[in-house]
Amino acid sequence: MIDLRAFQNLQLRGGFTIVRLEITNEPLVDAMGRDAVARTRITARNFDLLIRAGLSQHELSVTLYHEILEAATVAMENPPEQVREFNEGDFDQAAYQAHERFGGSFSAESRPAVANLRVLTKMEAWQIATTSRSN
Ligand SMILES: [Zn+2]
Repeated sequence: MIDLRAFQNLQLRGGFTIVRLEITNEPLVDAMGRDAVARTRITARNFDLLIRAGLSQHELSVTLYHEILEAATVAMENPPEQVREFNEGDFDQAAYQAHERFGGSFSAESRPAVANLRVLTKMEAWQIATTSRSN
């Protein structure tokens, strides 16, 4: 069982904070009204995440990477130039690569998950994203 408390008020590099992370059985939709696996509310550098129940461990990990990368890009005053125009597919690809490189963001054990998320918000994550795009 995943310990969601590990993500409560979790400080990330870059001055970002996961204020709250919840799993919901309710259907989620994005800003366009399409089905979504997750929704992140951004207030300054604080992230409030809602993730749909029923995802596999791997899907959860990639989803969390995706949401944090995307939210950080939105919340930053000056995101790296290469990620400013990222679409959903680009963030997905970056999230998969972060999962491959850093391991699961959403481990059953809270410690690795926290460590991985700290790594994530270093510029390395964006470098992966940038590299994958030029390939
Ligand atoms: Zn997204």
